[in-house]
Amino acid sequence: MAFLDELGKKLSSAGQTAVSKTKDFAEITKLNSNISDEERRITDNYTEIGKKYVELYKDELGDAFKANYDAILKSQAKIKDYEAQKVQIKGVEKCPKCGAEVDKGATFCPTCGASMKED
Ligand SMILES: [Zn+2]
Repeated sequence: MAFLDELGKKLSSAGQTAVSKTKDFAEITKLNSNISDEERRITDNYTEIGKKYVELYKDELGDAFKANYDAILKSQAKIKDYEAQKVQIKGVEKCPKCGAEVDKGATFCPTCGASMKED
């Protein structure tokens, strides 16, 4: 019987270790998630600093920022081109006022009523 008692103790101890390891894993997972959230907040705030800096000093960006700003302008131009290609494929265009997709050739936006003619 002593053997069975001993075995029972060992199994119980192994079970508790497994529970404890599962708990540790859950805590580590939660902490990793918290770290990721904070890292995302840091990145978002750096992005905001960059946007505000460009808004304030667009015309006097130093060499350190010029290449990045030029890259942003290039990407914005590409996005505009890709949007135009989408319009060609889908047969819709974006309302200049509200951004809704409107059938190509429509005179007014059915969402906001704005004129679709560009002038
Ligand atoms: Zn509209």
